[in-house]
Amino acid sequence: MIDETKSALVLFSGGQDSATCLAWALDRFTHVETVGFDYGQRHHIELEIRPQARAAIAAVKPEWAARLGVDHPLDARSLGSIGNTAMTEDIEIKMGESGLPNTFLPGRNLLFYVLASAVAYRRGLGHIVSGVCETDFSGYPDCRDETITALGKAINLGTARDFTFDTPLMWISKGETWALAAQLGGEALVSAIIEETHTCYLGDRSNRFAWGYGCGTCPACDLRAKGYAEYRQVDGR
Ligand code: ZN
Repeated sequence: MIDETKSALVLFSGGQDSATCLAWALDRFTHVETVGFDYGQRHHIELEIRPQARAAIAAVKPEWAARLGVDHPLDARSLGSIGNTAMTEDIEIKMGESGLPNTFLPGRNLLFYVLASAVAYRRGLGHIVSGVCETDFSGYPDCRDETITALGKAINLGTARDFTFDTPLMWISKGETWALAAQLGGEALVSAIIEETHTCYLGDRSNRFAWGYGCGTCPACDLRAKGYAEYRQVDGR
């Protein structure tokens, strides 16, 4: 039997933020499972690197490896079929009239949370962990603390459960996310995140920078690079 209070489901995309959240969960829960979504993303490569990224993070500490349970890859491609977003189509990334970049995929996180809660329900996992963040973010309204709090309430009402929704990165900067990884798993975790995770919107893994692989110019690469520089500058790390 899985102890609900000590178990978690991590929304694990294969990016830096969710990788840090996976380490965060492995550090405090005795049983951790992951869920990932194929939504027709252009950077489909993040789905391909997920198994290896999961394994590399768990390998940082023997107790983490013992705590990591199964992965649940889910099909959410109906989201991509709605279309008209630079996240799923080969169109230029730019600001839209609404003040949101056209990488915003309406309903994405809302749907992911609902699907994740169904998995957590079936698996008897008490915590749902995700890397959503209000700091340094791209203005996505589905990453706001208020959204997750309201959504969590709706999910708990709609499932008659009492899931805890953990968002360890909500109020920290990208530089602080790197520092959190160092605090949780030292340089071994930092280097696993650099080598094995994927953030670039364009799915580019042909260039290797100090902070990992990417095109180096898209908004996701830019944010990751700036955060890494910020992290290394502090105390001359
Ligand atoms: Zn990029």
